[in-house]
Amino acid sequence: MFRKWLEIIFDHKISLRERMFRLVTGISMVALVFILVLGRSGVNLFILPLSLAYIYIAAKISIKKECINAGAAAIVVLLLLLYPVVFFTGGGLYGGVPEWFVLCFIYISITLEGRRKGVFFLLCIVETVICYYLAYHYPDLVMPNTMAQAYFDSARSVILVGFLTSILLLFQNYLYEEENKLTKSQKKEIEELNQAENHFFSSMSHEIRTPINTIIGLNEMILRGDISDEVAENARNIQGASKMLLTLINDILDLSKIKSGKMEIVNVSYETGELFSEIVNMIWIKAREKGLEFRLQVDPSMPSMLCGDEVRIKQVLINLLNNAVKYTKEGSVTLSVRCERVGVNQVRVWYSVEDTGQGVKKENIPYIFDAFKRVDEKKNRHIEGTGLGLSIVKQLVELMGGEISVNSVYMNGSTFLVTLEQDIISERELGTFTLTSRMKVHEGEQYRHSFEAPGAHVLVVDDNEMNLMVVRKLLSDTKVQIDTASSGAECLRLTQYQHYDCILMDHLMPEMDGIECLHALHSQPGGLCQDVPVIALTANAGSDNQQIYRKEGFSGYLPKPISGALLEAAVLSILPKELVALSETASQSEIGKDVLIFEQAKRISLMVTTDSVCDLPESLKREFGISICPYYICTEQGRFLDESELMADELLAHMAEGRKGVSQPPDVQDYERFFAQKLTEAQNVIHITMAKHVSDGYQNALEAAKSFENVTVIDSGHLSSSMGLSVLYAAHMAENHASRDEIVKTVKKLRRYISSAFIIDSTHMMCKSGQISKRVQVMCDALLLHPVIVLRKSRMTVSSMEMGSFYHVIKGYVRKTLANPRGIDRRILFITYAGMDEESLQYIQELVRQYCPFERVYLQKASSAIASNCGPGSFGLLFMRRNEASISYSEGYR
Ligand code: ADP
Repeated sequence: MFRKWLEIIFDHKISLRERMFRLVTGISMVALVFILVLGRSGVNLFILPLSLAYIYIAAKISIKKECINAGAAAIVVLLLLLYPVVFFTGGGLYGGVPEWFVLCFIYISITLEGRRKGVFFLLCIVETVICYYLAYHYPDLVMPNTMAQAYFDSARSVILVGFLTSILLLFQNYLYEEENKLTKSQKKEIEELNQAENHFFSSMSHEIRTPINTIIGLNEMILRGDISDEVAENARNIQGASKMLLTLINDILDLSKIKSGKMEIVNVSYETGELFSEIVNMIWIKAREKGLEFRLQVDPSMPSMLCGDEVRIKQVLINLLNNAVKYTKEGSVTLSVRCERVGVNQVRVWYSVEDTGQGVKKENIPYIFDAFKRVDEKKNRHIEGTGLGLSIVKQLVELMGGEISVNSVYMNGSTFLVTLEQDIISERELGTFTLTSRMKVHEGEQYRHSFEAPGAHVLVVDDNEMNLMVVRKLLSDTKVQIDTASSGAECLRLTQYQHYDCILMDHLMPEMDGIECLHALHSQPGGLCQDVPVIALTANAGSDNQQIYRKEGFSGYLPKPISGALLEAAVLSILPKELVALSETASQSEIGKDVLIFEQAKRISLMVTTDSVCDLPESLKREFGISICPYYICTEQGRFLDESELMADELLAHMAEGRKGVSQPPDVQDYERFFAQKLTEAQNVIHITMAKHVSDGYQNALEAAKSFENVTVIDSGHLSSSMGLSVLYAAHMAENHASRDEIVKTVKKLRRYISSAFIIDSTHMMCKSGQISKRVQVMCDALLLHPVIVLRKSRMTVSSMEMGSFYHVIKGYVRKTLANPRGIDRRILFITYAGMDEESLQYIQELVRQYCPFERVYLQKASSAIASNCGPGSFGLLFMRRNEASISYSEGYR
C-alpha cells in the first residue's frame, strides 16, 4: 500500500494538488500516531485507530469524488478536535504537542483552498491561544509530565516535526523542478510545432501556387484566343476564382507568419510617387468597373523618397482600397495621403481610405479587425471575403509601429485611417503631377502583345513541366525563340553552346536551386551567358524577395503565378533594344488622366466643433475655424434650425404672444452626419457640448461618436458663451498643434475656472422649459425676485435671488459677480443676453468698467435655443477665473 501511495505521489499524470494532498495527509497520519502515543491517557489508544480510519476514509472519498477541498476540511476539523485533547493529556507546554500545532498550520495552508483556508487558519490560531490560556490559568487541567518526560517528548517532537516538514519541503522542491523541466520541454515542443506549422504553411503556399500558376497562365491563353462570349465568361470566372484562391493563400501565410513572430518589417528607401502610382494602377480599374469614381489626393509637400516597408505599406493600402471598392455600390473611393514633419528627418504620414459605401454598424466596429470575422454577414453574403484582410492589415500596421482607426456611419460610408512614421531619404517634394500608367492589360479587354522580338533568344529554367509550358505559351505572341531547361544542370549545359539574351530562372529546384545555378552561370568556364541578365521566377511570397534576389545578382524577379503582362514587361525591359519591335498598342495603355491627378489633401489634423448654443460671435468662430452643429427650436409652425432658420429675436417675439418655443438638441443621427462631414475636413474631431445635465446633447453626441474612432466628445460643464470660452481655448490649442489628449485634459480642467452666472428677468420661460417648478415661478413673480442661475458640476442651480427694480437688480448682480477682480482673468468677457434694449446694455457695460475692466468685451446675443430657455431681459457675465491652463495658452486671445 505504501508503495502504491509513493507511486501515485511521483506520478506526473496525477494532478499536482492531489499529489500534495496525498503527501501531506500521509505525513499527518504519521504525525497523529506520534501525537496520540505522546499523550499518555488511555483514551488516546481508543481515539488513535478511529482517527486514522476517519482520515483514511475522508481522503479516499474526496480523491474519488474529486472534491479534495471538502476532504481536507473534514480532516482539519478532526485535527482541531484532537489537538486540545492531546495537548492537555500530553503535558501542555511541558510536553511534545505544541510543535504539532505548527504541522496543523502547514496542513491547512497546503491542502485547503479559497475562503476555507482563511477560516481554518483563524480557527487554528484561536484554538492555540485558548489552549495556552487555559493551561496557564488552570494548570490543573493539564496532565503533568515529569521534567525528564517533558524534555524527552519535546526533543522527540522537534526532531519528528522537523523531519516531516523537511520531507514536505524536499518534495515540493522536487515537484517544482519537475514542473520546470516539463514546462521547458513543452515550450520546446510548441516551438517545434510552430516551426513545423510554418514550414507546412510556406510549403503549402509554394505547392498551391505552382498549379495556380498553370491554371492562371493557361486560362490567360484561352482569353487571348478567338473564343465565344460564353467561353470568355467562363474563363474570366476561372480567373476570378484563381485570384481569390491566391489571395486566400497569401492571407493565411501572412497570418501564420505574424502569429509566429516571423513577419519581419524590412525598411528600405522607396519612391513615394512610384508607390502611389502602383497602388492606383491596381485599384482604379476595379473602381471603374463598378462605376465608382476613384480619387487620389496626395500632399504635394510629401518627400519624394522615404524609408519604410514599401511592400507592407502597399499591402495595407491595397487591402483597404479593395474593401472600399468591394463594399461600395455607388459614389466614390478616395485615397488621401498627408504628411507632417515630426523631427528633423522624420515625417508622420496619414493614409486615409474613404468610401461612400454601406458602412459598418456601430456595434460591429469593434470586431472588424478580428481574424475570420465578417460582419453583417446577411448583407455581405454575395461579397467574396474571408474576414482575414483587416486583421492582417491591423497587425501589419502595428508591426510597422503605426496606428489604424476606422470611422464609419452605417449606410453612409467608412473611412479607414492609417498613421505611420517614416524617415525622410530625399527632401525633394513630390509636387503635383499626372501619373502615366504602367498598367498593360485590363481584364476582359482583348489582349494585344506589347512587342515582337523574333531574333531574341530566351531560356526558361524550371523543374516543373507545366510552368515551362505556361511561360512558353505566354510569350508565344512575342515570337521570341524559347528554349527550356528542367534543371540547373541542364541550363548550364545549354549555356555552354548557346548565347541567350535573357534567362528566366525558377528559384526552388531540386539538386541545384536557382541561386546556385545563377552563381554557376556567372563563373561558368567558357560559358556564353556569364553576363546575361537573369530574372528569378518565384512562388515564395516574401516581403524580402526583392532584397534577396537583388543581393544574389538577379536582374529582377517575377512572383508566381506569372501574369502575361508582367512577364512581357520584364522580358521587354531586358532584351536588347535592337532586337525588339514595339507594337502600336504598347504606348496606348495610359490611364485616364482625369482620375490620376495628384491634388493637395487639405484635411487638418484636429478640428474643434461645438453646438449652436455656444453663443460665440461669428468673427471668433471664423478666426478659430470652429464648426457648429445646430440645435433645433420646436414651435407650432414646425422645427427650425437654431440661428440659421430662426433668430432669437423672432423667437422671443413669437413666444411673447404666448406661443410655444422649445429648444431640442440634435439627435444621434444628426450628430453622426455632422461628424462624418467634419471628418472629411479633419483627421480628428473634438466636440464640446453643453453641460450634460442641462441638455441631452452630450449623450446624443457621445452615442454618435461611437461610430467614429476619431471623435472625442467633452462635456463643457457650462452653457452659452461660457461653453464658448472652453471651445475657444480648445480651438486655440488645436491651432498650436496641441494633441487631442492635451486639449481634452485642459477643457476638463477649465470647467472649474469658468464662471457662468445668468440673471433671469422673468422666470416664465424657465418654468415652461421645465428648468424650475411652477411654485418657484409664482413666488418669484409675487416678490419681484430675479434668480441668479449658475452651473455647478454640469447642473443648473439657483445660487441667489436679487430683489427690487430691474436696474437695482442688475447692479447687485454685476457687483457680486465681479467681486474679487484679482482672481478674474481679465482678457475676455462675454455679456450674453436675450431680448435686452440698448440702454440696459450700455448700463451693464458701464458697471463692468467700474468694477472690473476687461481687455475685450463681447456683447453677444444669445442663440434662439438659449433665449427660449431664459426669456427676454436675461443676461450673464461670462468669463474665466485665473488659472495655469489659461495662462499657458494666453497668447492666442490677444
Ligand atoms: P472580408 O474578407 O470579409 O472583406 P476584412 O477583414 O477585409 O474581410 O473585413 C472584415 C469585415 O469588415 C467585412 O466582412 C466587412 O463587413 C467589413 N468591412 C471592411 N471594410 C469595409 C468597408 N470599406 N465598408 C464597409 N464594411 C467594411
